[in-house]
Amino acid sequence: MKRCLFPGSFDPFTKGHEAIVHQALSLFDEVVIGVGINSKKQGLFSTEKKIAHIQSLFLDQPQVRVASFQKLTVEFCKDIQATHIVRGLRDAKDFEYERSIGHMNHAISGIDTVFLLTAQAHSALNSSIIREMYQNGADITPFVTNHELLV
Ligand code: ADP
Repeated sequence: MKRCLFPGSFDPFTKGHEAIVHQALSLFDEVVIGVGINSKKQGLFSTEKKIAHIQSLFLDQPQVRVASFQKLTVEFCKDIQATHIVRGLRDAKDFEYERSIGHMNHAISGIDTVFLLTAQAHSALNSSIIREMYQNGADITPFVTNHELLV
């Protein structure tokens, strides 16, 4: 049984994140989506709403689980017995940022990060831009499936 953790703030969980989970399912038996709780960075959507929203997207897939966590990502991996962390890469900027975190995570735990390349159609999707649009009344239907569950 190969299990990975896909961690993030998912504020909100976009179609880009959704596609990464599907890509990860071709490599792992189980994907745990970990909604990180950052006490210093309050998100726009509550953790409860985020979890309910993400769960609604994978109702037909028992191999996908959703949980929240408030500790080091690698510590949470150990708790749930995930052997790898999955992260999505949209561009070189994502890579530069993810590379240092991936190295640090490996150095402190031996846990490797698997990077999955975002489909071109999703490479411009960005949670912070979607938040901005949402707060200003724009329709975010094209970017977030079942977004009505976040309200
Ligand atoms: P974090 O605050 O941990 O960066 P995010 O929710 O912004 O959390 O992103 C979680 C993961 O999803 C990261 O690996 C990020 O690079 C990736 N990601 C963000 N947007 C997209 C997208 N449009 N397509 C694929 N992966 C994405």
